Amino acid sequence: MDILHTQLANIQRQLAFVATDPIDWKLYVQAFSWSVTLFESYLLLRQYPLYSKTEPPAALAGHFSPDVFKKSQNYGRDKAKFALVSGLVKQCLDSSMLQFGFYAWSWGAAGRLLALLGFGPEYEILQSIGFVFILFFLSSIPTLPLSVYGTFVLEEKHGFNKTTPGLFVADLFKGWALAFVLGAPFLAAFLYIFKWAGDRFVPWLMAFMIAFQLIMVVVYPTVIQPMFNKLSPLAPGELRSRVESLASRLKFPLKHLYEIDGSKRSSHSNAYFFGLPWSKHIVIFDTLIQQSRPDEVEAVLAHELGHWFYLHPTKMMAVSQLHIFTILALFPAFLHAPPLLRSFDFPKAVAAQPPTIVAFLLFQMILTPLEAVVSICMNAISRHFEYEADRFACELQTRLQAEDMKDMGDRLGRALITLHVKNLSTVWVDWLYSAYHHSHPTLTERLKGLEAFQAEREKKKL
Ligand SMILES: [Zn+2]
Repeated sequence: MDILHTQLANIQRQLAFVATDPIDWKLYVQAFSWSVTLFESYLLLRQYPLYSKTEPPAALAGHFSPDVFKKSQNYGRDKAKFALVSGLVKQCLDSSMLQFGFYAWSWGAAGRLLALLGFGPEYEILQSIGFVFILFFLSSIPTLPLSVYGTFVLEEKHGFNKTTPGLFVADLFKGWALAFVLGAPFLAAFLYIFKWAGDRFVPWLMAFMIAFQLIMVVVYPTVIQPMFNKLSPLAPGELRSRVESLASRLKFPLKHLYEIDGSKRSSHSNAYFFGLPWSKHIVIFDTLIQQSRPDEVEAVLAHELGHWFYLHPTKMMAVSQLHIFTILALFPAFLHAPPLLRSFDFPKAVAAQPPTIVAFLLFQMILTPLEAVVSICMNAISRHFEYEADRFACELQTRLQAEDMKDMGDRLGRALITLHVKNLSTVWVDWLYSAYHHSHPTLTERLKGLEAFQAEREKKKL
């Protein structure tokens, strides 16, 4: 532990200037957040002309009727326009909040609110919770119209929306209530660790974050998900026996097999698994079951079990721990830095002894460029995992000595095409746009991959 603390102290020494030099951090954050938004707009403009193509890529020509292809292009074009406008609107809002001292105002407002209730400034954690909720509400309300438009105009126009206004409002309130019930204790514990551990907070906070993530793995599907969707055991039949047999042959610890009423909100479709290492649950969207044949849904699950087999969720979690560690290791330099708060319009009295939550929030904003790079890397890793899981599905025949699985690759390909066609997903994708935004390879790339894995197996057999 001491080596860790010596190294952390070294990093802090390197960054000592943060606590002393009057740097215009606000200008820096404005410049970077605008750069990111403008870059994302540029990507959309690169992607936009592809929606005018009149033919699908050659590999997909047989699967898209001209009518469906046209619908998919129109949907993509509308989504791109919406993304461009909403991205710019959100950035304008964020940027004005930043420029006009909204963060400093919110901290003061939380303090005044607590004073009314009889709590003084010594209740820093309480004031921090108030501060975060004021920020959360006041910044989420202006973007509500965008989300209403996205659901009731955009998705509605293309036939995907199944959300009623009543459900939309109920979801919104449930989401807020949940954010409070989970967020407030989390935040309190998070801030308490800083107080309690002092400058040696890094390992403690890491342990806390990992524990929290593990608890969420159990709590999310059993408590939170059922608040929004209905999970019912998958009915006995061909699909159920196929999935159970596949799971047992792979020694996948399948505890429950659910069908989820994803169609309650949207007709987009999917499947996933979750749970602790010894007890896993598989969830299949009702829409996927309706749209594909049981042997094709089985292939989608074969791909999902590939993620499990290669420990992809665990690896992803390890990468994200490394990411969290880096952030925490850099943070101490920003924790006691009055000039940082001054540059974001906080009054001298608050800046002299920076509240942890304020310092952390401002520090997060400064990290925007780093976060953009991290997200590109995460997407690249995730795309690599997708290929690996596809390959796993293709190789099941050999792995399980199961003759009936020799066409798994074809089945997966057909299921992916159906998913794409039904979801009207975009088929022409600009490479840079895809590298930045997509955690999955494009359909054409995946079909090509499946073909290559298949060809490789044929060659091995000869
Ligand atoms: Zn996948």
